[in-house]
Amino acid sequence: MSSFPVTRLRRLRRTSGIRNLVRETRLDLDDFVMPLFVGTRLGVRAVILFGIPDEKDEEGSGAYDDDGIIQRALRALDGSELVLLTDVCLCEYTSHGHCGVIRNGEVDNDETLELIARTAVTHVEAGADAVCPSDMMDGRVAAIRDELPETPIIAYSAKYASAFYGPFREAAESAPAFGDRRGYQMDPGNVREALRECDQDVAEGADVLMIKPALPYLDVIRAARERFDLPLAAYNVSGEYAMVKAAAAKGFLDERQAALESLTAIKRAGADLVVSYWTKELATWL
Ligand SMILES: [Zn+2]
Repeated sequence: MSSFPVTRLRRLRRTSGIRNLVRETRLDLDDFVMPLFVGTRLGVRAVILFGIPDEKDEEGSGAYDDDGIIQRALRALDGSELVLLTDVCLCEYTSHGHCGVIRNGEVDNDETLELIARTAVTHVEAGADAVCPSDMMDGRVAAIRDELPETPIIAYSAKYASAFYGPFREAAESAPAFGDRRGYQMDPGNVREALRECDQDVAEGADVLMIKPALPYLDVIRAARERFDLPLAAYNVSGEYAMVKAAAAKGFLDERQAALESLTAIKRAGADLVVSYWTKELATWL
């Protein structure tokens, strides 16, 4: 390996034309998924739908109601060009805001599985192209796979108990009424455990693995990329987006530059597809 002055790495950074030629990571709108609470946006290729039901109950029955908000939205979007993904979880539909049914003050894993699978089935019957279980119960991918052998499952394999979900919970009104989600979502300090979660999901029949959040967990994305050959997704969550928005609103940084840098970092770490609230802006930036 030669060194300076023979090697001058700045030679390939001199002009934007040269930088473009040798760029290792590029953003392509085809790789981005827009999270939607309602409606569609021009240019966006794929959306993931989250329901905000009028009524909630202990068992989250709105999640698996054939006439539920997501099921109706899917039917309304039938025939559109969009790839329709759905978030499969009970927390937006439960009166207590947890991702499963509560027994003795705790989320009951096995009893929740049946409702998660039932929710996924109603989504597919209403037109979902792929389902994305986000509850972090053990065995949920297998429970869905049993019912839906033909449907792609994008598993939120390593979903961390993160402070960065704040703005989403505000919008989806899904903050837990008591306690927190640390009994089922992952501890932010762990990366080997994330790979075990991915292993489980692969064994249970997942088609795509997802890491959530993205920016504070780039090392986890990289570790999963190196270990698994499945397509890898990363969820650039509401808090990551809101931080940049807020800083840009104060004039501290340029939103477009900061967003493109953040999304490039997520791709560079190894994500094949990215769920991001910037997808609609990206449609105009790219
Ligand atoms: Zn949930």
